[in-house]
Amino acid sequence: MSTTDDRRPTTRIGYGFDSHEFRAGIPLKIGGVTLEHDQGLGGHSDGDVLLHAITDALLGAIAAPDIGALFPPSDPKWKGADSVIFLREALKRVHEAGYSVGNVDASLILAAPKIGPHSSAIRTRVAELLGITRECVGLKAKTPEGLNLDHAAIAHAVVLLEKRLSSS
Ligand code: MG
Repeated sequence: MSTTDDRRPTTRIGYGFDSHEFRAGIPLKIGGVTLEHDQGLGGHSDGDVLLHAITDALLGAIAAPDIGALFPPSDPKWKGADSVIFLREALKRVHEAGYSVGNVDASLILAAPKIGPHSSAIRTRVAELLGITRECVGLKAKTPEGLNLDHAAIAHAVVLLEKRLSSS
């Protein structure tokens, strides 16, 4: 047993959700990877639904303000922003709170394109952004059967954080 007075939990879990509508004429970015498709995801930033869900999961795990509070869509500064910026800020806050990322698991719900062929590239990129191995990034893709949501992409993500032994 530790004799320090560090009462932070050893692990913390976080959950994030996001959705964006498909729109013609813009690139499709998912998990920091640009995918070949005839539509992209609209939004104030680059619309990367998966990075937004993971960002909110990281922030939620440390009970920090959510992505919308930290990067308000009303602020023109974030127009067209690369969502990697949001993820990096969330990760910085996680580290400052004394935690590192254990693993991430995510589900994408979208009618098209098929994610299977891109799954490895997305997991690799997300792992790289979070500083973990690809084996610690789970990704499932589902079609929105019975939801009448073919015009949108949805992402759910959970993260597990682990307390770092040293302070800072
Ligand atoms: Mg979003």
